[in-house]
Amino acid sequence: MNYQDIAQLIQMALSQGKKVWEVVLDCEAENQGCTRSQIMDRMRERWRVMRESMAIVGARRSMGGLVGGEASLLQSGDGRLFVGPLLVTVMTRALAVAEANACMERIVAAPTAGSCGIIPGALSAVAERMGATEEQVLQALFTASGIGIVLASNASISGAEGGCQAECGSAAAMAAAGVVELVGGDPQQIAEAAALALKNQLGLVCDPVGGLVEVPCVKRNAFTAVHAVVAAQMAVVGIKSVIPVDEVISAMHQIGKAMPQELKETAEGGLAATPTARRLANLESER
Ligand code: SF4
Repeated sequence: MNYQDIAQLIQMALSQGKKVWEVVLDCEAENQGCTRSQIMDRMRERWRVMRESMAIVGARRSMGGLVGGEASLLQSGDGRLFVGPLLVTVMTRALAVAEANACMERIVAAPTAGSCGIIPGALSAVAERMGATEEQVLQALFTASGIGIVLASNASISGAEGGCQAECGSAAAMAAAGVVELVGGDPQQIAEAAALALKNQLGLVCDPVGGLVEVPCVKRNAFTAVHAVVAAQMAVVGIKSVIPVDEVISAMHQIGKAMPQELKETAEGGLAATPTARRLANLESER
């Protein structure tokens, strides 16, 4: 009963008269030999960890000392916030989770540790705005997971294999799909949102300064969570991706393979090769 690509997932939902999240949940229950409620309980536990990791913890510093306190700065705003409250919440929570990861605290890899703030940031903020229940958030997480399963099978969710497009790009596609589910979009809109989000992350390289998941990773989570919400918003008003989502995933896979090794988590290229990054990396190694 498994789906091989997103077109099949959408088709299964439509032909069975189910929501996308239900198809994903049913497949997981069958694959793991568990009941639906057991799988749902596991997702509830992951959502609990995600919520805990969104706590804003003042001016903490990351293990490598390159980041920390950004979520707190944004939350206080200091009278300078000019974007809407929804986006501020999305950014703040995405930063908080990514900071928690950089501080070696407990997070849910979604799909990876480096991209862990994107899904919780986007989903929690939109859920609050829409007055969604916890059950609805869990359903959105299953939809996001379904997209993630296809990305992992047909392309990659690893920065070392496909660049940051595979990590943060995948998280963006998953979050966008989840947000569409959350706000009551239909299965095709879920596919469009995933395509729109991923398409606009293609080519993104993985170039962590000093090999630490701190710069550019933490702030990138805030940018990408907003990006996912924008993709979902476009999809639910009927904006479509000219390139179908499975072709976008295939393009991401090809781009990842063509990307030089220096730009795939080796910290030998891109931002990681700048003079400032080299200086910071040397300071870190001398500690
Ligand atoms: S830059 Fe690399 S390490 Fe950082 S989030 Fe992206 S893929 Fe992960």
